[in-house]
Amino acid sequence: MGKLPLRARLATTIGGAAGRMSRLAGRGDGSVIGGVIGLRMEPNLLALLAAGRQIVLVTGTNGKTTTTRLIAAGLTAFGLPVASNAFGANMEAGLTAALGRAPDAPLAVLEVDEKYLPAVIKATRPRVVTLLNLSRDQMDRAAEIWLVARKWRQALAAAPDSLVVANADDPLIAWSAAAAPHVVWVAAGQRWREDSWCCPQCGSHLLRDELGWRCAECGFARPPARWVLEGGSVIDSSGRIHGMSLSLPGRANRSNALVALAVSEIFGVDPEQALPRMRQVASVAGRYTRFERHGRQVRLLLAKNPAGWLEAFDVLDPPPVPVLLSVNAREPDGRDTSWLWDVDYRVLRGRPVFVTGERRLDLAVRLEADGVPFQLVEGVDDAVELVQDASLDVIANYTAFQQIRATFGRAE
Ligand SMILES: [Zn+2]
Repeated sequence: MGKLPLRARLATTIGGAAGRMSRLAGRGDGSVIGGVIGLRMEPNLLALLAAGRQIVLVTGTNGKTTTTRLIAAGLTAFGLPVASNAFGANMEAGLTAALGRAPDAPLAVLEVDEKYLPAVIKATRPRVVTLLNLSRDQMDRAAEIWLVARKWRQALAAAPDSLVVANADDPLIAWSAAAAPHVVWVAAGQRWREDSWCCPQCGSHLLRDELGWRCAECGFARPPARWVLEGGSVIDSSGRIHGMSLSLPGRANRSNALVALAVSEIFGVDPEQALPRMRQVASVAGRYTRFERHGRQVRLLLAKNPAGWLEAFDVLDPPPVPVLLSVNAREPDGRDTSWLWDVDYRVLRGRPVFVTGERRLDLAVRLEADGVPFQLVEGVDDAVELVQDASLDVIANYTAFQQIRATFGRAE
């Protein structure tokens, strides 16, 4: 902080005070407002705050917040403070606020919105850029993911000093990362394939087999990976096998942890040091949080897009444990709910299904079409009263998730 120019120091101090005031006033966690005010005083503040630190950027459609948290956990092995935007404020103001809050942290792990990645690479000159996956988010963004990948390519080609950690199993990610001179390939898997039937390089159909994917036309193919997930184990870059038991559930989180281990190793943290630290992460910004309601255990899962719904289904406790689905269609969710038709809900058959949220009728129509019996309810408490079991899983999209969190406490 002492090395910052005066204007940047003032901007950080005033931004930090605004963030604290916002928290005290109960207006969220204050992670954005401080950055907004700081940037208004010093437009170059993000670059100034990033200078001299070792920075890891994390982006992708799904898993950003969790992977960021797991990498930050791994890097605590040094015993040094790690700056991070742990609550997912992932645009310029949120990143600026995160660095401003931790002026003395030599390391920073930052989740970045997909569209902002090129600008953030330019501003922060990261040591590592982590690319997880790319798939459609809200309907109105579906056509844009190839354009996003193309912009990443250009940004990575222009940042030869950054090392890229990328998921070899996602063709769009592989195509973006291939433009970078230094890449660590990780086999993090790809559950959702609807957005990658075509070769990102030439547009031909991709062929898939147990070895991965390849294009018969131009020869673009899945790069060999140095880190592999094999059931519940990790094979690391030197071929050693580690058991991967996490507190976070599901295959998607094992993939996130695999990526986080690869990033940690770049900083010299061995998987044997990093894994116990990652195991301590039990919930991430409210995801997987459990709370008790009238004697029932309720677990909260977030699913923002079709790929995210598949991941959430993987994590559900087995039937007959009931599930409550909650869907809104506010601005951050995307106004259009036609994405509901991209998700296969038939896996929910055989368990009680409750439906709520501002767009519960849209979801009801969708479940009807998939032949999934369901019951409409007003909210979590209604569902809790109706269930016979001791536990209830809740899957909610973005603003529905935030509403439930606000009602039932923001406990981490
Ligand atoms: Zn091709």
